[in-house]
Amino acid sequence: MDVVIYARYSSHNQTECSIDGQLKECEEYAKRNNYNIVQSYIDRAKSGTKDDREQFLQMIADSKKGLFKGVITYQLDRFARNRYDSAIYKKQLRDKGIRVLSARENITEDASGILMESVLEGMAEYYSVELGQKVKRGMGINAEHCYYNGGSVPLGFTLKELSIATNGKDMIKKKYAIDEEKAPIVKKIFQMYANRETMASIIRYLNNLGCRTSQDKEFNKNSIGRILNNKKYIGIYSYQDTETAGGIPRIIEDDLFEKVQQELVRNGLAPARNRAKTEYLLTTKLMCGKCKEYMTGKSGTSKTGKLHTYYKCKNSKCNTKAIQKDYIENLVANSAQEFLTKDNIDYVSKQIYSIIKSNQDNTDLNKMQENYKKLEKQKAKTIKMIYECEVESVRKNFYNELANIEDEIKQLSFGITKEESKYINITATEIKFFLNKLKKGSIANFHYKKTLINTLINKVLLYEDRLTLVFNINNVEQEITISLLENLESSSFKVSALPNC
Ligand SMILES: [Zn+2]
Repeated sequence: MDVVIYARYSSHNQTECSIDGQLKECEEYAKRNNYNIVQSYIDRAKSGTKDDREQFLQMIADSKKGLFKGVITYQLDRFARNRYDSAIYKKQLRDKGIRVLSARENITEDASGILMESVLEGMAEYYSVELGQKVKRGMGINAEHCYYNGGSVPLGFTLKELSIATNGKDMIKKKYAIDEEKAPIVKKIFQMYANRETMASIIRYLNNLGCRTSQDKEFNKNSIGRILNNKKYIGIYSYQDTETAGGIPRIIEDDLFEKVQQELVRNGLAPARNRAKTEYLLTTKLMCGKCKEYMTGKSGTSKTGKLHTYYKCKNSKCNTKAIQKDYIENLVANSAQEFLTKDNIDYVSKQIYSIIKSNQDNTDLNKMQENYKKLEKQKAKTIKMIYECEVESVRKNFYNELANIEDEIKQLSFGITKEESKYINITATEIKFFLNKLKKGSIANFHYKKTLINTLINKVLLYEDRLTLVFNINNVEQEITISLLENLESSSFKVSALPNC
């Protein structure tokens, strides 16, 4: 597995391991686990400076390129400035299949940490819907002018930067342009395929010439397939459901493109457009009660052509029956909703609030506030001196001193405000508000159901006749057992109807 190291050193903590020490331990950990280190990111944080985690943000940005699958950190608390950041960034990484690993601790996280992170994540997701819309609006404007909207740039294209004046400000936008060096490769691929050459021979031809894909890899069936049905090559710019002809410079003529599409259909390689990807909400949560293995999401098409989705025990020798996906997800989501009683909501929000408070690293803030008090005392003393002083020239000196002290106070109070803004500004009431929202949503809404399950459910154990739910609450495993038989009778669900996969 390819991994990167992230190390951080903050100067105010005397007992902390040095950067070299952190790196050494991370490298040893990688070696023990056969991980391949591709990059190291190091932040030397000086308290008070504004950008104390430049490398951290660089690592997050690089994570989008898919170059690594794990981030090794010396200790989990080195990963981010506070638990809120930690929850947000861990989620971002997890969404890309990247794990955060700790070189020193052989633990994932304690149970209270899990609860807090899951609720914070849920809240971040809930409140980021609005933010997401803002980003989309920005993308809409980009689309109107056929500007580049992010994502990988197909082979044969490059990006050209343009300086655009909007509201008196210069903004850099990017547009697609033809990469004169690579575009002929694309043309050749289309021509060969239209002339009914096999995929294998096209791949061999390109790789023998040393041609590389846009991702700088050797060509394979998938990369050729993606090129052959990409409408960008006939100049079509697309954003969401809108396509703009001529929004991009063209590389392939319509006739050639059309011929290739017919060949793809003939070879059974036409893309299945709009095939919705099924998201299994209980992956890594649902376990087989009998053998304690994970149950994984599967799908299969029945004779009538209907798509069935279900979870099946990973252990191929296990005879635990597969269970229908929607049925069990709805059952779990319903129980999670029922779990959110008024008492539980009160308890959970208080619990989380106290964890947030106890995890706050306020060393810097305390120092600044102490200094502030000292300066206030000095100021009062100086003013007193000015009143009592009878010598004009000496009094003048005191005036100067007072001005200096006032200046310092002004700067420090600015610093304190800035430091305070780093803190998680979530009150117990806000957490409560979020949990109440979570109680009232509709399970028919997939996004809501996902947030509900992710926030509250830690584990689900499936037995032959019952289901045991473990919630993300404290160290206590709050279990709810549901009899499946009762539920089965009242639903149309039949295990035997599932296809074998
Ligand atoms: Zn099993």
